[in-house]
Amino acid sequence: MPSSVLIIGGGVVGQSCAWFLQRSGHEVTLIDQSDLQATCSTGNAGFICPSHVVPLAAPGMVSKGMKMMLDPRAPFYIRPRMDVDLWRWVWLFMRHANHRHLMASRQALAELSVFSQHTLEDLLEETGIDTAYARKGLLMACRSARHLAEETAESEHARAVGLAVEVLSAREARDMNPELDLDLVGGVWYPEDTHLHPGRYLAGLQAALIRSGVRILPNTRVISMDQRKEQIVSLQTNHGELEADEVVLSGGAWSGEIAASLGMRLPVQGAKGYSFTLDNPPVLPQHPFILADHKVAVTPIGQQLRFAGTLELSGTDLSINPVRVERILEVVRECLPAFRDVDFSGIQPWAGLRPCSPDGLPYIGRWPSITNLTMATGHAMLGMTLGAGTGKLVAELLSDRPLSVPVSLFRPDRFR
Ligand SMILES: Cc1cc2nc3c(=O)[nH]c(=O)nc-3n(C[C@H](O)[C@H](O)[C@H](O)COP(=O)(O)OP(=O)(O)OC[C@H]3O[C@@H](n4cnc5c(N)ncnc54)[C@H](O)[C@@H]3O)c2cc1C
Repeated sequence: MPSSVLIIGGGVVGQSCAWFLQRSGHEVTLIDQSDLQATCSTGNAGFICPSHVVPLAAPGMVSKGMKMMLDPRAPFYIRPRMDVDLWRWVWLFMRHANHRHLMASRQALAELSVFSQHTLEDLLEETGIDTAYARKGLLMACRSARHLAEETAESEHARAVGLAVEVLSAREARDMNPELDLDLVGGVWYPEDTHLHPGRYLAGLQAALIRSGVRILPNTRVISMDQRKEQIVSLQTNHGELEADEVVLSGGAWSGEIAASLGMRLPVQGAKGYSFTLDNPPVLPQHPFILADHKVAVTPIGQQLRFAGTLELSGTDLSINPVRVERILEVVRECLPAFRDVDFSGIQPWAGLRPCSPDGLPYIGRWPSITNLTMATGHAMLGMTLGAGTGKLVAELLSDRPLSVPVSLFRPDRFR
C-alpha cells in the first residue's frame, strides 16, 4: 500500500532508500541537517567491496584495539572520554569480537554485499549517473609477512562464502601496480570488488531523486519525534513540524541520538576517518589497494587519486585531528616513493563519521514496538557497499513485498 515516507538523513543509505521507495510508488520526503554534501558518504574510499565479510567486531580486535587505543597515531583509536553510551558500545563490541560471531555473520554479510553491488550496478545503468565506476578488484597489499599471513587467513572467510580470492606472490602483487614500485611481500586479490567516485555518485543520485519527484529538504534538522501509542505522529525540526505515514531513520553516526529522543536504545558510535584527494597525481596506479600493514586505502578514481584511513571513535565530533592526518601522509611518504611532499601541499583533508554498531552489522528493519519506524543505519566501514541494497530492502519492507535477502541478523532491536 503506497504511503507517505519521511527519511531522516541524506547520505548514501537515506538517498538509496528514497530512490527505491519512490520507485515503489511511495510519496517520499528526504530531510538532512546539512546541504547533503557534508555526509560520510561523499569523501570515503569508494570501494564496493563484498570481499569484506569479516565484521569490524572480529576475533583479535579487542587485543589489537587495546594496544592501539592509547596511541593517537595508530590506525584505530578511542579518544578517552566519560560517555556511558561509548563504554556500553565498547562492552558490546568486546562481547561480539569472537569467532562464533564471525562464523554466524559472514554469510549474511556476503549475501547482502553481493546483492547490493548488483543493485547498485542496475541503478547506475538505469539512471546513467557517471561515477567513474570501475571493475578493477581490490588488492590487500602487504609489506610484512605477518600482515600477509593475517590477510590470507581473513581471505579464507571470503572464499568460504563463495567469493573469488587469489593470494599473490611479491612479484604478482607488485605487478598489479608496476608504476608505483611498492615494496611488498605479497598480497590478497579480490577480483570481484569494484569502486566509484562517491561524491559524484551522491550528487548524481540526488539529481535523479529530484527528477523522480522526491521532495528534498536540506538544512532541516530533526530535533525530536512525537509518539502516540505505538506510532510516530510527527517530527519536530528546526523548520517546524513534519508528518508522514512512515519514518525511516538513516541518520548515520547521529542515529543513536535521534533514536534516543523516542527513548529507544540504538547503540551507534561515530568512527572518524580521513581522506585527501590529488587531482593531478604524479602517478596513477592501475588498481586500487589497501596498504594492509597501515590500513590506508589508495583509490584511483577517474584521473584523481584518493588516500583514506584511520578509525577513531570520537562521537559526532567532525573536527580534523592533524596528528592523525599527518600519520596517513607519513605512510604514503614511506610506502609510495613516487610521491613527494609538494604533491600534497595545500591539500584539504576531508573527515567523515562511519556509523558503527557494536557487532559490526548494520541495522535494517522495522522497530518492533513502533509500527511506522524503520531503521537503516550502522553500516560502519561498508556503507557505500551496502547502501543500494539497503535501500531496496527498505522499499520491499515498506511495500510488504518478499525480501530479496534475509535481514534477521540485522534486526535493529538486537541490543535493546
Ligand atoms: C575514511 C572513510 C573511508 C571509507 N571507505 C569506504 C569504502 O571504501 N567503502 C564502503 O563501503 N564504505 C566506506 N566508508 C564508510 C561509508 O562512508 C559509510 O558507511 C557511509 O557513508 C554511511 O552512510 P550513511 O548514509 O549511513 O551516513 P551519512 O553519509 O553520514 O549520512 C547521514 C546523514 O544524516 C544526517 N543527519 C544526522 N542527524 C540528523 C538530524 N537530526 N536531522 C536531519 N539529518 C540528520 C547527516 O547530516 C548526514 O547527511 C568509509 C568511511 C570513511 C570515514
